[in-house]
Amino acid sequence: MQFLITGGAGFIGHALARRLVELGHSVRVVDDLSAGDPARLPEDVIFARGDVNDVPRLWTLLQGVDCVYHLAARVSVPESVRYPREYNTVNVGGTVSVLEAMRDVGVKRLVFASSGAIYGEQAQQPLHEALPPDPRSPYAVSKLAAEHYIHTIGRLWQVETVSLRIFNAYGPLQQLPTAHPPVIPQFIRQALGGGSLVLHNNGAQTRDFVYLDDVVSALVAAATAPDVDRRIINVGSGVETSIRELALAVGEVTGRDVHLLNVGAESGGVSRMCADLTLARALLGYEPKVFLREGLQRMVEQDVRFSRLASREV
Ligand code: NAD
Repeated sequence: MQFLITGGAGFIGHALARRLVELGHSVRVVDDLSAGDPARLPEDVIFARGDVNDVPRLWTLLQGVDCVYHLAARVSVPESVRYPREYNTVNVGGTVSVLEAMRDVGVKRLVFASSGAIYGEQAQQPLHEALPPDPRSPYAVSKLAAEHYIHTIGRLWQVETVSLRIFNAYGPLQQLPTAHPPVIPQFIRQALGGGSLVLHNNGAQTRDFVYLDDVVSALVAAATAPDVDRRIINVGSGVETSIRELALAVGEVTGRDVHLLNVGAESGGVSRMCADLTLARALLGYEPKVFLREGLQRMVEQDVRFSRLASREV
């Protein structure tokens, strides 16, 4: 099959591109490189630097494509609290642009990388897809709006659409932006560097950490699964872990005595998140395979190998 991945130079996108190429598919990527790194992509991938709101560019890239993975987005909850207009332009406007371009060219399926952040605060865990959304940040609002757009206009234009609500994905070589880095790679770097691990609200918040390879497996299955049109499907590990437990696990896996530093609550965050995987199992044949300790171990090994390589290059 021929795929286009928007945001394909990013953390999840590059791993998806690699898996699709390994499976014998043809892959094109469009990414504006606001966060991505095309050096991570396998050689056989056709890479185009561009914006998802550039519809004429998308027309060219979509020729002959069977399925689009729409991953391009601004992805930071705290940043979205400060710059909601940017999140609306890229995450909502960009999604509508991708769909318009797909309609114009006649591409039949869209797999959308949505987010577990849409659930917000809920009285019950694990979170299943029928719960009423309660977005607590502009990022979560933008993902919810994008879900509504793709399922509504997909039906009007006969484009098959499926939204995967991904929970907290992590994995080797996850990039560390200076502002608002993801918690796992930040904790690992801090632990290995002998620094303090910063906990908001005593680390009581919980998350469902899902390993990158498992997310990729769900995305791959969604491209060809029958009966997923206009479905919303959780992709997580099904395990609820507090940030304090995560910090202690990072300490164990890195073999360091970690110092925990408590600060106040973070704006836009939610208190508990754990994915119900019933639908993912039924519709995608999905089963998470890598759980937290093994995933952390793999990340630490990669990080150490990577920094040895980097220090040899200097
Ligand atoms: P990422 O930032 O590594 O990847 C996003 C990519 O989109 C980046 O390469 C960036 O350069 C690109 N991009 C941003 N704006 C663009 C634009 N206007 N035009 C073209 N490209 C643009 O993030 P990720 O973790 O790989 O996330 C991928 C997708 O999965 C996102 O849609 C994100 O919302 C979703 N998601 C991720 C997680 C997670 O835990 N990583 C959880 C839930 C949902």
